Amino acid sequence: MKKIAMLNCLNSNKVCAGAACFTAFNKRIRSFERYKGMDVEVAAFMRCNGCGNDPDEDDGMKEKVERMKQEGVETVHVGLCTKNKEGVRCKNVARIMEMLEEEGIEVVDGTH
Ligand code: SF4
Repeated sequence: MKKIAMLNCLNSNKVCAGAACFTAFNKRIRSFERYKGMDVEVAAFMRCNGCGNDPDEDDGMKEKVERMKQEGVETVHVGLCTKNKEGVRCKNVARIMEMLEEEGIEVVDGTH
């Protein structure tokens, strides 16, 4: 079975239950359409560690990235909430995406 995870904005999670992300996954639509008919498990719902936390200096973030590897997560989908209104991605999340890729994990832009 393929394991995937989602990465979202900690600030957004104060007001977001993640329902749209999980609905998209359960219905295999939007960025999850690629998994139609496949046996896929969402193994983690990961958030950044908040504004002002440089992912490279943050042991907790390093631990989370390592956990993705340990769990056998192959792909991480990154939520729209990690971009501002102009569509520019938060630099902390951009760095976390690189950290995941450095561990051999595929990163996909978007959830729902
Ligand atoms: S660092 Fe970026 S993604 Fe994380 S809470 Fe702040 S704005 Fe959201």
